[in-house]
Amino acid sequence: MELTPLQVQRYSRQLLLKEIGGQGQARLLAGRMVLVGAGGLGSPAAFYLAAAGVGRLVIVDDDQVELSNLQRQILHSQARLGEPKAASAATALHALNPEIEVIAQSERLSEENVMALVQQGDVILDGSDNFATRYLLNSACFRAGKPLVSAAVLGFEGQLATFRHGVDATAPCYRCLYPEVPAAGATPTCRSAGILGGVAGILGSWQAVEAIKELLGIGESLAGHLLLINSLHGQIMRIRIEQNPRCPVCRASAS
Ligand SMILES: [Zn+2]
Repeated sequence: MELTPLQVQRYSRQLLLKEIGGQGQARLLAGRMVLVGAGGLGSPAAFYLAAAGVGRLVIVDDDQVELSNLQRQILHSQARLGEPKAASAATALHALNPEIEVIAQSERLSEENVMALVQQGDVILDGSDNFATRYLLNSACFRAGKPLVSAAVLGFEGQLATFRHGVDATAPCYRCLYPEVPAAGATPTCRSAGILGGVAGILGSWQAVEAIKELLGIGESLAGHLLLINSLHGQIMRIRIEQNPRCPVCRASAS
């Protein structure tokens, strides 16, 4: 695919990168990504993917924009309070880059719709805020053979991991890392424990970078590792994660 003169201008700073160049840009423009959650993580992730020219973004979120979201969910604005977040996200992303396609899906992820959704992406980004959605996406990505870039934030801390269990049979999945759903109330949420907006910005931006790496096959995949970031103490830790031989998702057919 030949880039137009305007595309050469728009993407010039990343065309200069030898890992991307014209070929990588063409792949980005032909690329499709699904983002689950247009909140604190999905906002920076979607902005950077749209800015980079990922050709088709599917944004899934069944919430409406509330005033308490705007402290970190920078896709949305005061003027769009009450709008569905998916639609608000599409408005913001089109304003930034009108040449990409943004599909707003204002629906809750369920057993019924998750496979059809995951099939629409080359890479899936999980920016959701609950275990039920993370488990659903993890299983669906495994069955569909799609890489999943997952992030979570709370307070001043965040976690990031890429799961290539659907692509590489030896790679761990989200369920290997978190085998059981914690009891209700056992894990604090942003709603109950708070979050500094910029921390979601760090993790969501990093998620976009990992998603682009997975799409283009550049650099070293984060798969098999978990990044733990503590912004209050200025610390980043990268730990290895292994496949759990008793994992009900990625080892179910093996045992
Ligand atoms: Zn697993």
